[in-house]
Amino acid sequence: MLTIGAHLSCAKGFFAMGQEMLAMNADTSQFFTRNPRGGQAKEIDLNDISAFLNLMKKNNIQKVSAHASYTINPCSDKEETRIFAFETMADDLTRLTALNGQYYNFHPGCHVGQGTEIGIAQIVFLLNRLLNMPTNTTVLLETMSGKGSEIGSTFEEIAKIINQCNYAEKLGVCMDTCHIYSAGYDIVHHLDDVLEEFDQKIGLKRLKMIHLNDSLTPFNSHKDRHAKIGAGSIGTEAIIRLINHPLLKELPFILETPNEFEGYKAEIAFLRANYG
Ligand code: FE
Ligand code: FE
Ligand code: ZN
Repeated sequence: MLTIGAHLSCAKGFFAMGQEMLAMNADTSQFFTRNPRGGQAKEIDLNDISAFLNLMKKNNIQKVSAHASYTINPCSDKEETRIFAFETMADDLTRLTALNGQYYNFHPGCHVGQGTEIGIAQIVFLLNRLLNMPTNTTVLLETMSGKGSEIGSTFEEIAKIINQCNYAEKLGVCMDTCHIYSAGYDIVHHLDDVLEEFDQKIGLKRLKMIHLNDSLTPFNSHKDRHAKIGAGSIGTEAIIRLINHPLLKELPFILETPNEFEGYKAEIAFLRANYG
């Protein structure tokens, strides 16, 4: 069965988010660990979490994913910003322990002129400290579009981070379809080749999740503008091929399309109808 969900808010609690998931016929979801622009995370409510875990179990929901805030930058040229990124991620991982083994997805960051080598070394340094902590969460590196000085827009860069990390077994990858298409991986015409390259450079066993988005900007534009399914340069046909690809079809798919509840519900129904 297709495992699909959307990026939702957990501002009203995890149980409320779970009910929203069920109402849109989703069996996975993603949420921000705190306000996306950073700031304080809400106190963990263990009753709410256990109600949510029960709801997951009853409805056979395997995984949800937390998304780190956009404002942290693990490879900033400023030390205090890197320390802030580490502290935020460490706090997130500690809180996520209560959710019993979910995913935690983050953007590798922008090297802001320091160059990729230094940027990668700083990300690895952060991850080595972070994953040294006891955690039951799998940390996912998200593939990026390569806007500005973003790291992680090539499979080589993602592979370097994983291979240099002392805790590679705790790391996985989340492939964002909008981002990789913008980064120059042609998933519309050459999906098989792209997946083969992913397998050679990173290893498909590391691929844990897909962010399923269309792209407002053309192929190889190095921009990051998500579009609704079928309303962008990737298009409906390529997206249907992608969710049905034998190497991808068992993975959880998360919509980060510009939608509210009704829009997500309609996209989920459409994708389920075109699966299998
Ligand atoms: Fe993201
Ligand atoms: Fe994404
Ligand atoms: Zn994006």
